[in-house]
Amino acid sequence: MIRLFILGSAVVFVCSAWGFFGHKKINRLAVFTLPVEMAPFYKKNVRYIEESAVNPDRRRYIVPDEAPRHFIDLDNYGDSAVFKLPRYWSQAVEMIGEDSLNAHGILPWNIQRVYLQLRDAFFVRNPDRILKLSADLGHYLADAHVPLHTTKNYNGQLTNQVGIHALWESRLPELFSTDYDFYTGKAQYVSNVQKEAWKIVVHTNEALDSVLRFEKQMSELWGEKKYNFESQGKLTIKVFSVGYSKAYHDKLSGMVERQMRASVLMIGSLWYSAWVDAGQPDLRLLMDHKPTEEELRENEVQLEQMKKEKRALLRPHEGD
Ligand SMILES: [Zn+2]
Repeated sequence: MIRLFILGSAVVFVCSAWGFFGHKKINRLAVFTLPVEMAPFYKKNVRYIEESAVNPDRRRYIVPDEAPRHFIDLDNYGDSAVFKLPRYWSQAVEMIGEDSLNAHGILPWNIQRVYLQLRDAFFVRNPDRILKLSADLGHYLADAHVPLHTTKNYNGQLTNQVGIHALWESRLPELFSTDYDFYTGKAQYVSNVQKEAWKIVVHTNEALDSVLRFEKQMSELWGEKKYNFESQGKLTIKVFSVGYSKAYHDKLSGMVERQMRASVLMIGSLWYSAWVDAGQPDLRLLMDHKPTEEELRENEVQLEQMKKEKRALLRPHEGD
C-alpha cells in the first residue's frame, strides 16, 4: 500500500509495503526456489516478475476494490480475532458482511482468491495470465508477512510513532538486506492454501507487539537524533538516520530478514502448488510459443467443464 505523509513544510515520508525495492527483490528471489519443471519459464520472465511486483500497489489508484486486498485490521475485531475469524470467504461474508470486511481489509482471503486464479491460468496454459497472477500473488504474500499490515495502527498513528511503516518495511531492508541470507531451500507443496494464508497472518501478527514496542523504546533513547535530512532534487526528505535504523534493526534481532525469507519461500511454494493443482502443465511449451485466442478459449471451456464435473484434477477448495 502506498501512502504519502507530509510532516511539516518540506518533509515527506513515502511508504509502500516492503517498498518498491523489497517487493521486487522478494518476487525475484522466489523464482530461484522453483523446481526444474518450472524454473526455466520463470527465469526467462524474471524481469517481468520483478518489475510487476508492485503493480497491485499502483492499481490502488484506479481500482476501487484494490486497497483492502493488502491488509487486515485484526484489532478491529477484538482480542484473539486472528484465531476466531472465519477462515473461508463465504463464511466470512455470511457472518460479517462484505462491506464490513472490505472496510477492514481482506488480505488472507484475497491470497486464496488469487491463488485459485493462478491455478486456473496454469490449467488454461495462458502464459500472460500465469505471469501476471504470479507477480500479484507474490505481492500479496509479501504484504502478509509485514506485521503493520495486520493492524489499524498501520503507521503508528495511534501510538505517536508515525513513519514506522516505512521505517520497518522500506528503510530497514534498503539499508541492511545486502547482508541477509536469502538461501531458503526449495518450494514446498501446500495442501490447503486458505489455511496457510491464515497461518502466515497469525505468525505475522505475533510480531506486531515487538515492532511497535521496540521502536517506542528506541525512540525514547534517541530523541530527535532518530532523524536525518537528505536532499532529493528540490525536496528535503526527512529520513530515519542510519544509526537509529541500525539500533532498531539490531533490537528486532533478524525479524525483517526472517519475514523477507519467509515471503520468498512461501511465494515459490504457492506458485508451485498452483502448478501442481492444475495438473503440472508442461511450461516449456509456453516459453517460445504464445497460444492462440482459440486455443485459450478451448482450454477455458475444458476448465469450466472440469469444474462442473468436480473432477479430482482440480482439487476442490472450500470457498472456491
Ligand atoms: Zn501492498
